[in-house]
Amino acid sequence: MGETIFSKIIRKEIPAEIVFENDKVLAFKDIHPQAPVHVLIIPKITEIETTKDINSTKHSALLGSLYDAANKIAKDYGISETGFRLVLNCGADAGQEVYHLHMHLLGGRKMNWPPG
Ligand code: 5GP
Repeated sequence: MGETIFSKIIRKEIPAEIVFENDKVLAFKDIHPQAPVHVLIIPKITEIETTKDINSTKHSALLGSLYDAANKIAKDYGISETGFRLVLNCGADAGQEVYHLHMHLLGGRKMNWPPG
């Protein structure tokens, strides 16, 4: 279940520019960056395809780990104080392409609102 291009990145079968990794989480640069900093932060388990699959009983610690990673990466890139955006696209209308839960960390420029 849940085999995607990100599964191959987790298994290091295809290359990615990894910026953070621990036992639960992997973070790597987006291949088509939309900002000077554009990192994808993903759980290593593949069972969560979209935000709709998140279950607080099963996944609360994992979600905390994703946010811990985002905060650390933002600090490492020096954008923690200037600001950054975290985006989770869910489903077709949101433009989700890869059905493996991922958080986009975007920063290094002024963001527009509302998003496109
Ligand atoms: P989504 O639209 O599903 O929220 O975002 C998927 C993201 O994954 C896109 O921003 C896309 O550029 C990125 N992406 C897709 N395939 C690859 C890949 O093979 N390597 C990397 N580093 N990023 C990818």
